[in-house]
Amino acid sequence: LTSGLESAWNKLKGEEVLTKENIVEPMRDIRRALLEADVSLPVVRRFIQDVSDQAVGTALIRGVRPDQQLVKIVSDELVKLMGGEVSELVFSKTKPTVILLAGLQGVGKTTVSAKLALYLKKLGKSCMLIAGDVYRPAAIEQLVILGERVVGVPVYVAGTDVKPAEIARQGLAEAKKKNVEVVIMDTAGRLQIDKAMMDELKDVKKVLNPTEVLLVVDAMTGQEAAALVTSFNVEIGITGAILTKLDGDSRGGAALSVKEVSGKPIKLVGRGERMEDLEPFYPDRMAGRILGMGDVLSFVEKAKEVMQQEEAEDLQKKIMSAKFDFNDFLKQTRAVAQMGSMSRVIGMIPGMGKVSPAQIREAEKNVQLMESMIEVMTPEEREKPELLAESPERRKRIARESGKTEQQVSQLIAQIFQMRARMKKLMGIMEGGSLPTMSN
Ligand code: GDP
Ligand code: MG
Repeated sequence: LTSGLESAWNKLKGEEVLTKENIVEPMRDIRRALLEADVSLPVVRRFIQDVSDQAVGTALIRGVRPDQQLVKIVSDELVKLMGGEVSELVFSKTKPTVILLAGLQGVGKTTVSAKLALYLKKLGKSCMLIAGDVYRPAAIEQLVILGERVVGVPVYVAGTDVKPAEIARQGLAEAKKKNVEVVIMDTAGRLQIDKAMMDELKDVKKVLNPTEVLLVVDAMTGQEAAALVTSFNVEIGITGAILTKLDGDSRGGAALSVKEVSGKPIKLVGRGERMEDLEPFYPDRMAGRILGMGDVLSFVEKAKEVMQQEEAEDLQKKIMSAKFDFNDFLKQTRAVAQMGSMSRVIGMIPGMGKVSPAQIREAEKNVQLMESMIEVMTPEEREKPELLAESPERRKRIARESGKTEQQVSQLIAQIFQMRARMKKLMGIMEGGSLPTMSN
């Protein structure tokens, strides 16, 4: 966590629930973090609005600190915004899969071409590269060196006096002859979007009929990235983006805006100059980077662990302090229901051991049955199960009002006394035998 965020979260720690009021400050910090990470303002606005609405509407999970829950909501939403899952490269059914790389000058296209070849080679796919940057002889040289010498894949070179579309045609024919599985074409970039570049790319695309058209974007572009991806998508039609230079200072806000604005996923990221520095784009890791939380994934995972620990401790405390009247019983069963699966909770109670699914279903049915009877008890009866134990009239009334049999009512009463006894014993085990007195 950055110090700013940390202090916002800390302020939340004493709170019981997330409210409109108490999330104002943390959300302001999140807003700042997003803007600092260079997420575009409209995206930030919408995001903050959505997350705030959701946070306030969410029932707090028992045992989860509000700050943890807010972290979870924020990071989940960031992940969703970035497409949720890893967006895999698509391979064509018939050989070869063709990948066309596009992008402005200097963003890392040539580097990515070779990196991608290595990446695919490691996946066991045979590759070939096509050198399509006819404007800079040095670019062709660069691809040949990286491709052939460093990565060890063939590079098709046609020279600088051949049109890119023609190079594409020749290269594709060569790839088919070689029977390679994937062919990757590097292209020339310009400093800015211009018509000549777009036309050239359109011509190349027509020839290649590529499976993937990936726009290479420099993460340092920041907010501009989203507009760039959108333009390329509108002009030539792309299937996704590759975000490079994530090893730099950029906080990666570009990643957030790209999917949201253009609708196209980021498929891969480059995080260094070495050939190995290309990997799938993981939205959850990026969420952490954008929020400046390091690896939010592990943080949330850890929070979840703590959360379960706290849930268990909380429940345990409740059990230990409970007089175990029907009110406690209701509170507990409702808390259990709120926490989700009973199996999870039962598993957390020390000393409960393993419980089979059938036993859990049975227990859940029982809980409903008991609740319907407890609901018709008077407050006094709920607090003092003894009253019911002593009075057949009261038991009759409860049976009548809850629509259950008198036998079922008697069983419930017997059960609460049994439970008290069991809790007492359980406490003895947990406390190492030193039993605190119980009002029983
Ligand atoms: P192109 O003009 O789009 O083909 O860009 P290049 O592939 O020639 O890359 C331009 C510069 O960026 C080169 O110096 C690369 O080494 C560098 N570069 C590319 N990708 C990355 C990356 O992920 N991280 C860093 N630090 N540098 C990169
Ligand atoms: Mg290049």
